[in-house]
This record gives sequence, C-alpha cells and structure tokens, in this order.
Amino acid sequence: MPAPTPLTQCDPPQLDWSRSGTPAATDFGDIYFSVDGGLAETETVFLKACGLPERWQGQQRFTIGELGFGSGLNFLAAWRMWETTKPKGGRLHFVSIEKFPFDAPQIKQALSVWPELEPYSAQLIKSWPGRVKGFHRLHFGDVTLTLIHDDISNALDELDAKIDAWFLDGFSPSKNPDMWSVEMMQKLAMLSAPGAKIGTFTVAGAVRNALTEAGFTVEKKEGFGRKRHRLEAYFPGEIQDATTPPTPTIIGAGIAGASLVKAFARRGITANVLHKADHPAASHNAAALIKPRLDLQDRPESRFFLGSYIYALNAYEPQALKIGVIHIPKSEAETERYIKLNNQAPLSREHFSFDDAQNKLALNKSLLIEPKSVLGDWLSDISLSETAMTSAELTILAAGFGIRDMLKDDDIPLRFSRGQLTWAEAEIETPTTYGGYALPLKEGLLLGATHQRLDGVNPFDLKPEDDVQNLNNFEKFTGVKVRQAKAPSRASVRVTTADTLPMMGQLEDGRWILTGLGSRGFVFAPLLAEAIVSKICGDPMPIAKSVWDKFGIR
Ligand code: SAM
Repeated sequence: MPAPTPLTQCDPPQLDWSRSGTPAATDFGDIYFSVDGGLAETETVFLKACGLPERWQGQQRFTIGELGFGSGLNFLAAWRMWETTKPKGGRLHFVSIEKFPFDAPQIKQALSVWPELEPYSAQLIKSWPGRVKGFHRLHFGDVTLTLIHDDISNALDELDAKIDAWFLDGFSPSKNPDMWSVEMMQKLAMLSAPGAKIGTFTVAGAVRNALTEAGFTVEKKEGFGRKRHRLEAYFPGEIQDATTPPTPTIIGAGIAGASLVKAFARRGITANVLHKADHPAASHNAAALIKPRLDLQDRPESRFFLGSYIYALNAYEPQALKIGVIHIPKSEAETERYIKLNNQAPLSREHFSFDDAQNKLALNKSLLIEPKSVLGDWLSDISLSETAMTSAELTILAAGFGIRDMLKDDDIPLRFSRGQLTWAEAEIETPTTYGGYALPLKEGLLLGATHQRLDGVNPFDLKPEDDVQNLNNFEKFTGVKVRQAKAPSRASVRVTTADTLPMMGQLEDGRWILTGLGSRGFVFAPLLAEAIVSKICGDPMPIAKSVWDKFGIR
C-alpha cells in the first residue's frame, strides 16, 4: 500500500468572473453553465434526457448521480422539479462528485443569476461543507445530497450506490478528458441500477464510444439553444423501487440509538427502542463537545473524522448552547503537530486556526451541546421499553456499557474505560480542552474526564481522587484557580475498540451493531447511524466504501 499523503483540503477552482454572470474555469478554459437559458438547458440536457419527472413517479426512492457538482445548478434544478412533481412519500437522492469545490461565497455568487432558485440555494449554502475532502451528506427534507469531494476516479471507486439517472457534466471532453474516459464510463456502468439513463450535452465520438463499450445504448438527440445535438444513453433493464425493511428494534437510548431513530424516521420508518435503565449512560452527561479529530495523514478514517464532524455540526446546530472551543496543547509534541496541521489546513481557517504565540487552537465552529435536549428531541416520538431481550427481525445493538451483556464472549473484543466528571467553580467563559475539558454551563463548570480501564470494582462508584485529578488538570493547563462545587460528581463507561476506531456492521446471528464510539459518540454517531440505516435500506452510502470496510466487525 502506498504511504498516505498529507491531508489537506481540495484544491480551489480557478474562477474567472469576467464573463457577466457565468463563472469560467481558467485552468480548463471552459464555463460552468451558460447564462442565457442555463436553467432551461439543465432541464432539457439532464432532467428531460433522464426521463424526469415521469420516471420518479410511483417510486419510493429515486437516485441521481452527477459528475461535476460545480456551482450546484443542476442539483438545485432537480430539487426544484422534485418539489412540484414528487411522488407521495418519495425520497430523492442526489450524489455528486467534485474535485475542485467552490466555497460558500462562490456558490452564492454563481447562483445569484437564478433568483428563482434562491429558496433552495440558501439552504445549500447554509449547510455547505466547504472544500473538505471526502464524503458529505446534507439533508433537505425528502431530498438528500451526497457530495464526494475527490477526483472522479477515486470517488467512483469509493461510492456504494445504485444510480437511476446520470448527469454527465464535466467540462467539454477535449478540455477535461479525465471525466469521460472508457474507464470512467465502465465505473458508471458498475454503479448503474437496471434501466439507468444518462443525459449529457456532448456528442463527441469518444464519449459515445466509451459509453457503448461500457454497455450503454446511446442516442443523439436534438440539442439545446445553439448546440445542434445532445446525447441520451440508457442501460438495459427495468427501474426497481426501494424495499422497506422490517420494523427495526434498536437497543440503547443514548446518542447512538437516538441517531438511528432519527435516520429511520427520515425514511418514514418508526423504530422501537429498548433500553436498560440500570446504569448511567455516557450519553446522559450534562454537556458534550462537538470537536473535530484532526489527522495529518490522508487515510479513509481521517476523512471520515472530518465528514462526521461537519455532519454533526449541521445535526446539532439548532440545539447548540455555545459555539467556539479553545484547545490548549498538552505537550511540545502536540504544539508541533498543530503547527503542521495549521499549515496543511484539512479544515478551513474558520473552523480551525492555531495561534503559535499563545499556544492555543481556536475551534471557532465547534459546539457545546446539551445531550438531554438533543436526546429528548430525537427520541420525542418514541416510547422506550425497558427490556433487553428481543427476537425482532431487524435488531440493532447500540447500547453503551450494557452491550457487554448482549454479545457472546468471543463476538467482538471491546474495551471499557471509566470516566468521572467533577462540578467546579472558576472564572472561564469559553469551553476549553487540554486532554481534559472544562465546560462552562449555567449549573457551573463541568470538568472531565478521567480515563481508567475497569478494575473489577463497580465502575459507577465515585472516586474522590478522580475529582482531584480533574481539578488539578484544569489549573495546570489553564492557569485559572478552581474549586470543587457541591453538586455530585458522575461516572460512566466509554466503549472502545483495540484500534480506537468505531465498529459497525452485521453480526453472524443477523443482528446489527454500532459501537466503539469511545469519547466521540456525539460526533460520530449521527453519520455512522445514517450509514447503517442507508446500508439496511439500500440507499446510497454517506461514507466511503473503504471506511465501511475499516469500521466493519473485526
Ligand atoms: N454541474 C455543474 C453546475 O451545475 O454548476 C457544472 C459542472 S462544470 C461544467 C464541470 C465540473 O467538473 C467542474 O466543477 C470541475 O471542477 C469538475 N471536474 C473537472 N475534473 C474533475 C475530476 N477529475 N474529478 C472530479 N471533478 C472534476
């Protein structure tokens, strides 16, 4: 395996705005869309060519794949058409690949020539992930956008989906041959559902040949505007609809369980939730932080860490107590690491910037959230039952510490680590981390958390020496005086794996599992739950194949 490269953001597009209203890519010598009739062109060349809106009638799920997201014009046009023609209870998936993503202001500028799209573009811009590499999933009611920020070749290899309609919208083949090669068209064929259709603006011989070689039947059609021709292509077979899974039973009502409930509910499926209320769950701490895990090297899991963080920011934004977290490095080695990360910038400066002089990392978009209100909201339509046994057809184990009793001994080697939290009083306003954390809440300052392997003693018994450790750590790294408050401390147990990566998938006995979230449950759970539920429902996956494989049961 080649050595991993440094993790950076995607390269920006080289935009020229001098042709009024139409962004052009200087390095490709081509435009993103034509302003006179660009929206009508999209409707003819892509939507109509793929048989839309007729082909999504009567379907529970319809999936569009696009090569070249650019400004998002085609996505917004599809979304707008969906709004007025969608089948009852249907869901639209739009999966798009882009190597040189716009940033939010560039999208705004490009789309400003289409005021009729503003209600849609405003929502896209609000949850836009920027130029962060890898997979991103955005939800807009019954429309789900999966963006893959990567070169087309790797993106198609990493995508797990069945596409009903393809919009081929690379720059013109002579200027952007990578997007139109025989190899890429063969990858499209692998990802196409039976009866898949393709629409594109070019009738270049090389593209027609590549599509034919990949098994598509191609037809030249009358072009739009000044273009004489456009191309339609189709794959043999009949379109197939989504199948509905049996009623899911989720075991565990912490953040993993609640995220699964939410992911099923998004698909119109109500889950049963079982939980055991005999020990304090880690998800029920008074507060949680949504912070990114940052890696220097570009590995599948490193991209997942960023994607899950962006996904979590969008998921929790309505319930955030505070925005902005400061991190103080614990050692010189950690400072060195942040200096490197600052130069590499896997996330944009608005998310992450390291101040050398002050030895502080500013995580300006990170969130402080209140688990009680998140769980209350996400589980509000669910009645919880207190049982641990089930013979349901579809069971997902998502309990924390309690998962120990639900697995056979040799099923999977999980590790358990005890953590204690301490209430304190000190003058501090911004949530701060330093290995431990200090969270200013209206009830007081919450200090956490210790880490100990379980030692045979009841892990929920409180240890006074842990409070001392939390208080000392806080003073050591922040230099702020602290004293313990009267409110009682709290202990809970984290579940981790030997390699500290989450674990998910289907056990030999047919049950599904989501576990090993360690101390990052609130960051990882929403996207991992969306991934498991996508897999169960046969929807396009929101994470790369290599991530799914890596997090599989091991
Ligand atoms: N559909 C877009 C819209 O609605 O604005 C316009 C797409 S533009 C014609 C072509 C897009 O393909 C550009 O955004 C470009 O960055 C992207 N692209 C070019 N080469 C690529 C590659 N090798 N991998 C992925 N995307 C690429």
